[in-house]
Amino acid sequence: EEDRALLDVDGIGFDEQESEPVHPVVAIIGRPNVGKSTLVNRIIGRREAVVEDVPGVTRDRVAYDAEWSGRPFTLVDTGGWEVDAQGIHLRVAEQAEVAIELADAVLFVVDATVGATDTDEAVVKLLRRSKKPVVLLANKVDDQRTELEAASLWSFGLGQPWPVSALHGRGTGDALDALLEVLPRESAVPGAYQRGGPRRVALVGRPNVGKSSLLNKLAGEERVVVDNVAGTTRDPVDEYIELGGKTWRFVDTAGIRRRVHMTRGADFYASLRTQTAIEKAEVAVVLIDSEDNIAEADVRVVQQVVDAGRSLVLAFNKWDLLDEERRHYLEREIERDLAFVAWAPRANISALTGRHVERLVPAIEVALDSWDQRVPTGRLNAFLGEVVAGHPHPVRGGKQPRILFATQASTRPPRFVIFASGFIEHGYRRFLERRLREQFGFEGTPIEVSVRVRE
Ligand code: GDP
Ligand code: GDP
Repeated sequence: EEDRALLDVDGIGFDEQESEPVHPVVAIIGRPNVGKSTLVNRIIGRREAVVEDVPGVTRDRVAYDAEWSGRPFTLVDTGGWEVDAQGIHLRVAEQAEVAIELADAVLFVVDATVGATDTDEAVVKLLRRSKKPVVLLANKVDDQRTELEAASLWSFGLGQPWPVSALHGRGTGDALDALLEVLPRESAVPGAYQRGGPRRVALVGRPNVGKSSLLNKLAGEERVVVDNVAGTTRDPVDEYIELGGKTWRFVDTAGIRRRVHMTRGADFYASLRTQTAIEKAEVAVVLIDSEDNIAEADVRVVQQVVDAGRSLVLAFNKWDLLDEERRHYLEREIERDLAFVAWAPRANISALTGRHVERLVPAIEVALDSWDQRVPTGRLNAFLGEVVAGHPHPVRGGKQPRILFATQASTRPPRFVIFASGFIEHGYRRFLERRLREQFGFEGTPIEVSVRVRE
């Protein structure tokens, strides 16, 4: 009650939608300059309600609360395609693939005045393969004259091209009506917005660390027949595995089982697959090849998990190959390169021999419990009061900002908002974050501390 009263006053988003249905997710896909941003603005109107702090929304994807004809949905703009000197076409297609996988329906935007390009054709292939509902928008049809050009897009085989002008609003209503016809009322895509069902685990890590070996080892224990799991939709890319008396949903296992052929740009591709898996999951187990030096690529995967706000377990694999010396150096590498996730539970395993693989489940459970943890406002403030009394914020320029009070605004991951009378230095914020961890645990989850200055 107390939480709510505080937050209503300050208008901070509160994580209370736990029991509400999950709004369907619509992705806007298309080449740069076809008019995606213009269309987003048209759909959401002037409200500009960016849902930026929803976990899973990464830098190059922005989610908005949208509504059409009284039907709410989440609109994801895949905006900033990474333009690369060589093969922009490839990258657009690859980024589109992630966005498509995380969506319930797709608005595919093409510039009718340009017509179909090779990049468009590549995206069309992805869309067909995904079998997701698609509404094809032929944009920049500002007048009747260009409508003919829109008609040429029938050749995509994606059904009717809807001639629209995002700029002037021409035709967008009809196109959105068409979207509602194919859009489910609730999201079927696992991810940031979905709750309930078996908990979702991603096995991630750079190539050859042992993901597929571990998956086989785990699945070997007990594969669950999907039809017997209540409340699950059949998803061929996920596997349900029973471990420690519980059913777990391992997401995107198809990506692990299918050996991706290594071509140019394979690293980038692998990183997008990893991103998708992480965003679908609630907890990520990052595998690291203990025998090999910890590489930048390992650190990058760990960072992706933290940035996505998912809980984290580190699995040091191939432990059977280590000698005394390597073990020594590994510990040093961990201290050097992985200090920023010193809070993550760790298991030293061998997917090959099965060594300590059973320790993964308790580690995952700890991480998820922390991810879900909510600290009552009373306890939080009593604790902060003590901390601040012992270590007040340093005086700067004759002023000392005071911590007024704090509250946990959300879980999954835990997010704290501290209200202060003035600017709180980065170092002090880090100090508070450290003390929060010492006091309340949060083993296995990133936490976020933000400060609101109050006059
Ligand atoms: P994005 O890169 O796909 O997000 O494209 P933008 O929304 O930034 O639009 C690229 C350019 O196309 C801008 O100059 C827009 O004003 C223009 N544009 C967008 N929609 C239309 C349209 O319906 N008609 C015309 N004539 N121009 C448009
Ligand atoms: P992925 O690319 O991450 O899926 O890695 P794989 O599971 O395909 O493993 C890559 C290679 O490492 C294979 O030759 C595996 O047999 C080997 N491997 C995986 N786990 C272990 C382990 O725990 N110990 C040893 N010695 N080899 C392993």
